[in-house]
Amino acid sequence: MNAFTLSRGPNREDKKYFTSGDPDTLFSDLQEIGHGAFGAVYCALDERPKSETRGQNVAIKKMSYAGKSEKFTDIVHEIKLLERLRHKNIVRLEECFLKEKDHMVWIVMEYCLGSASDLVDVQPGRLLESEVAQIVRDVLLGLSYLHSTEVIHRDIKAGNILLSENGLAKVADFGSASNKSSANSFVGSPYWMAPEVILAMESGRYTGAIDLWSLGITCIEIADRKPPMFTQNAMAALYQIAQSDPPTLDQNADWSHTFHSFVSCLLKKNPEERFTATEALQHSWFKDNRENPQELVELIDRTKRLVREQDEKQITMQYKKMLRIYKGGD
Ligand code: ADP
Ligand code: MG
Repeated sequence: MNAFTLSRGPNREDKKYFTSGDPDTLFSDLQEIGHGAFGAVYCALDERPKSETRGQNVAIKKMSYAGKSEKFTDIVHEIKLLERLRHKNIVRLEECFLKEKDHMVWIVMEYCLGSASDLVDVQPGRLLESEVAQIVRDVLLGLSYLHSTEVIHRDIKAGNILLSENGLAKVADFGSASNKSSANSFVGSPYWMAPEVILAMESGRYTGAIDLWSLGITCIEIADRKPPMFTQNAMAALYQIAQSDPPTLDQNADWSHTFHSFVSCLLKKNPEERFTATEALQHSWFKDNRENPQELVELIDRTKRLVREQDEKQITMQYKKMLRIYKGGD
């Protein structure tokens, strides 16, 4: 084995996905906004001379391919997939850069404010059912498009649903996606995983229907603040998903009968009985909750205010702590 097999670098074929030039000179004010297994995501000011978003924010996912030989292949796979996707409910890839000297790839994307999981974390209580419906409808529109192009996302969860300033929810993070209409590998996040993905370890294949199961779990995650079985370890949860009846929304909360019915149509253990994305969009839950991006804009504003208040409280707490330390108090 030599250095090349240890860390497969880009070949000529791969290079067509990358813009040449040093991205350090094209973006400024990088601030970390998210973190994942691959590295970090930054918000940055776009200073590209010919860019439509010049002077505005973009998101940059910096991924390192140092070390493992498969990593670069995985990154190029994610880029190839995202590059051909164009939909208002799929996060848009703008441009990719290669910093060969640092073994880094920069993926420049449209900037979103944060994930649906961040929203749930910041809000002290439950979201309104109509707010959940706005997010879920957008994800379904994104999924319906993805499945029509034979892409399976394979990691639908609130942390991978991003919200834009104008009140749209967008499917993000194509690091686990498959570009075939059926697949058989064990990929995804345990608590959100469809039974047939767990069982496909032994036999069989699965289709885009797995994303609809994960969306059903995501409905519970967004509405009841945690996916089912979150207090159990991942192995026990996987076993239960495969063996037990499908989970439901919290029966003691005030969710409407229609919302319960909608979630149960997504959480069918048999993928053939499960709604497709297009069918799910026809459910009466969406007739009760008409499309209204303004509702998400207001939710985002409320969340921003809460974050600011929490920041201020924390600064005050730190200040008080410092005072105590300096004064030598308790
Ligand atoms: P991972 O594969 O590590 O989960 P993601 O692509 O999901 O990587 O990004 C991790 C986090 O970074 C997201 O949960 C989100 O908070 C943030 N993030 C990713 N892309 C964007 C974006 N385009 N705009 C704003 N935040 C983003
Ligand atoms: Mg993610």
